[in-house]
Amino acid sequence: MAAEYMSNYFKDIGIPPYKDSTYYQKIPLEKRELKTVNISVGDKRYEYKKDHYTYPNFSQTEIKTNNIVFLGYGIDTKNYSDYNTNVEGNVIMVFNGEPKDNNGNYIVSGGKEQSPESSYRFKLSKAKEKGVKAIFFVTENFKENYNRVEHKIEHPGVSLLKKEEPIPFFYINKEMAKDILGKHKIEKLKKKISSKKTTINKKLKKTISITTKNNDTFFYGNNVLAYIEGADPVLKNEIIVITAHYDHIGVIDGLIHNGADDNATGTAALLEIAAAFQLAKKTGYEFKRSILIFPNSAEEKGLLGSYYYVENPEFPLGNTIACLNVDMIGRMDEFHPNDSNYVYLIGSDKLSTDLHNLSEKSNKKYVNMDLDYTFNDPNDPNRFYYRSDHYNFAKKGIPSIFYFSGVHKDYHKHTDTVEKLIYEKVEKTARLIFYTAWELSNAEKKPKVDKKNTFNLNRY
Ligand SMILES: [Zn+2]
Repeated sequence: MAAEYMSNYFKDIGIPPYKDSTYYQKIPLEKRELKTVNISVGDKRYEYKKDHYTYPNFSQTEIKTNNIVFLGYGIDTKNYSDYNTNVEGNVIMVFNGEPKDNNGNYIVSGGKEQSPESSYRFKLSKAKEKGVKAIFFVTENFKENYNRVEHKIEHPGVSLLKKEEPIPFFYINKEMAKDILGKHKIEKLKKKISSKKTTINKKLKKTISITTKNNDTFFYGNNVLAYIEGADPVLKNEIIVITAHYDHIGVIDGLIHNGADDNATGTAALLEIAAAFQLAKKTGYEFKRSILIFPNSAEEKGLLGSYYYVENPEFPLGNTIACLNVDMIGRMDEFHPNDSNYVYLIGSDKLSTDLHNLSEKSNKKYVNMDLDYTFNDPNDPNRFYYRSDHYNFAKKGIPSIFYFSGVHKDYHKHTDTVEKLIYEKVEKTARLIFYTAWELSNAEKKPKVDKKNTFNLNRY
C-alpha cells in the first residue's frame, strides 16, 4: 500500500519508472516455521525442545535410515579431518565444538581459540558438501543452549530468501547421544580423540526416523526507487542515494504501530526532496549528478531492503558517490528539551573528510541547524551507526550520513503517533538534506574516500 502510494506519487510529479515501467525492486523474503519435529531412534521417540532442537532453516523433511555414522567432531581441515570414511547419503552424528589436546590447546587451531572450521555453520556446509543427509550435534550444555536460543526458535523472523538451504540439522542432548552410541561412551571417545589427535568414527546400526512439518511462506517486499537524472552529460552517471525506510513494526498485541516518527518522517522528507529536485529540473535549475530517492523496506527486520539493494544494486555502487539516510527526524529527545533546531549527524566524517566538510558548509549556507555529533562516537553505547540503512552503504565504502533526531518514550510503541510530530523540524531537516544532496550533485569533485572508518564494519 505504502509502496503503491509512493510510486503513484513519483509518477504524478513526473519521475519516470527507473526500468521496465516499474519503480519497484522486489525483495524475495521468507518466513519459516517448524510445526512439528519428530525424531525416533529404534522405537524410542524423542521430544522436540526437550531432547533436541533446531532452527527453521531447511525444508520439510522425511528421513528413514537403518544406520547412523558417528563422525568425531565433523571437522575437515588439512591438519585434522573427521571425514576419512564415505558418508554420502548417511545421517551423521558429531560432537559440538573442537577437540582439545592434553595441554588444553585446540587441536585444529593449535591455540586457545577455536578454529572457524569448528563452528556449526562450517560443519553444516561441509556435511552438505559431502552428501550427508542430516546431522546431529551432540551438545554438552543442552538446556542452557536451548534457553539461550528459545526466543529465536519460538518467534522465527522474516529473512531474505536463502539461495541455498542447509541440510536438516539437530542439536541433541547427551541422553539421546548415549542411546545412539550404545556401548561406546561419550567421554571415552572424546578422550581418545584428544590424546591421539586423530578422529574416530563408527557406523552404528540404528533405525532412525526424522520427520519435520513446516509452515513456510515466501513473499516479496518492495524497495521503491525514483531516479532523477542529472543534467551533466558525464557526471549524471554518478548518483547520490537518499534513503529512508518506509516500513514499521506492524501490529503487536492487537495494537497498530503507526511509526509516525519512525519512519513516516523520513519517508515524507524523501517525497518532498524528490519533488524539490523535480521542480528544479522542470524550471531549469540544473543539477549535475543524478539523484536516487530510495524508500526502502524491511528495515525493521534487520535492514533487509537496503542490504538487498547493495547486494543487487540497480545502479552501479562504483558510481554511487554518497548515501544520505533519514530515519526519525520529527521529535525532540531528552537532551534537547527546549530547542528543536538540532539534528544528530552520524557517520559524515567516517569515510570522507570532503563529505563532512560539504555537509557542514551546506548547513551553514542554507539552514543553520545545530548539528549534534554525540552519536558519531564509535564508543557510544547506543551503536546507532549500525542500526539504520546507511550502514549497508558504508560497508560498501560509500560515504554516508545518517540524519536522526534521537529516541523518545514512544520509540517502537503504538504511541508513536502523528500529533506528536514537530513539523517544522521535519521540514527543516528535509531542507538540510536536500541542500546537502544539491551541493553533492553540483560539486566539482565527488567526496574522496580518504579515511579509515573508526566504526568496525565487520561487526556483524
Ligand atoms: Zn527506524
